[in-house]
Amino acid sequence: MGKIHFESWRQTAIFHNPLKDGQLDTQEIEVRIDPLTRHQSTFNPGLEGKMSILFPETDYAYLEQRAEATRGQCFLCDDRWRTATPTYSTDIFPEGRLQRGEVALFPNLFPVAAFHAVVKVGDRHFRLPNEISADLLEDAFTVSIESFREYNRCHPSIRYFTINANFLLPAGASIIHPHLQLLGSPFPGTYHELLLEKGLAYYKNHGSCYWTDLVEEEKSLGERFVAQIGNSAWFTAYAPGGANEINAVWTKRSNFLEWGPEEIRQMADGISRALCAYHDMKFSSFNFSCFSGPVDRSLPEFRCLLRLVNRQNAMPHHRTDDYYFQKLLKNEIIVQRPEKLAAFLKGYF
Ligand SMILES: [Zn+2]
Repeated sequence: MGKIHFESWRQTAIFHNPLKDGQLDTQEIEVRIDPLTRHQSTFNPGLEGKMSILFPETDYAYLEQRAEATRGQCFLCDDRWRTATPTYSTDIFPEGRLQRGEVALFPNLFPVAAFHAVVKVGDRHFRLPNEISADLLEDAFTVSIESFREYNRCHPSIRYFTINANFLLPAGASIIHPHLQLLGSPFPGTYHELLLEKGLAYYKNHGSCYWTDLVEEEKSLGERFVAQIGNSAWFTAYAPGGANEINAVWTKRSNFLEWGPEEIRQMADGISRALCAYHDMKFSSFNFSCFSGPVDRSLPEFRCLLRLVNRQNAMPHHRTDDYYFQKLLKNEIIVQRPEKLAAFLKGYF
C-alpha cells in the first residue's frame, strides 16, 4: 500500500463576476495528476451541476432522423456487407471473414495498421447505448480475440493489439451502425507505448505491477471503485482523459491471447452496464479502447485494461468536446467528480 500517489494541485482564479453583481469572485480549481502517466485533469467546482454548458442534451429526434436518412446507404445493413466489404486471405480465416450470430468481422478498406478490422455489431442500424446488450458485445469480443489469435499465428510480428469503438458521429464514427475497430501493429501506438514504458518504470522502481497495485488501492479507498466482475476490476479514473471515464483492469491477464470466454464475458457485461448508466445520464456518444501487452509474452508489469469515455452528445451542429485544451495542451476537463460518478455507477453493476 501507499506506492500510488493520487496527487493534485490547486490554483485560484479571481475576477469581478457579472453573474454576481460584479462582486469579486474567487474560484478554486483542482488539477488532478494521473499517478502513472502524469496526465492532468482539471475540475472547477463552479461547473458542477452545469453539465449543459459543456455537454448539451442529446437531441433524440435528430438522432432518429439521421438513422432513417442513412439506413438505405449503410454498407453494414441487410446483406450489403457480404459483398461490399473486403476479405482476408483464406490462410488466416478460411471464410475470409469471421461471423458469429449477428456479428461479422472483415478488413477495414482504409487501414491505419497492418491489421485493421471492422466488426459489425448487430444487424440493427441504430441503437441507443442502453440497447447494446452484453450478449451482442460478447459475440463481438469473441470474434475480436479469435481474429488476434489467428492473425498473430500467421503474422507473428503483429503483436500489439487494441479493441476500439467510436459510437455515433461526435465520437468519430463515420456510420451510425454500431461497430468496433480492431488494430494490430508490430509496434505500440503513442499512448499504448506510454502505458508500457511507464508501467515498466514503475515495476523497476517498486518491484510490483502498477495495475494490480492500482486495483488494490482503489478497492481499499472505495470512493472510485465500482465493482469486481470475475477477475476484472471496474472503477472511475482519478484523473480522467475524457468525460465520465470508466476503467477496467484484468488483474490476471497481461495480453489478449491469455483471454478465454470468461474475460470476454466480463468485458461485455461491464461495458453494457456502463452504457446503460451513460444512457440514463442522457449521454449518447462514447469511445472505448482496450489495451493488451504484446501477445508473444506475459509481461509482469502490464495488465489488460479498458478505457471508456463519453463524447459530445449527438445533436445538430454539435460542438466538439476535444478542443485546444485536450487536443493540443493534452489536458482534460472533469465534468463530474469521478467519486460521484462511481457512486452512481454502483446502481448498474
Ligand atoms: Zn446500418
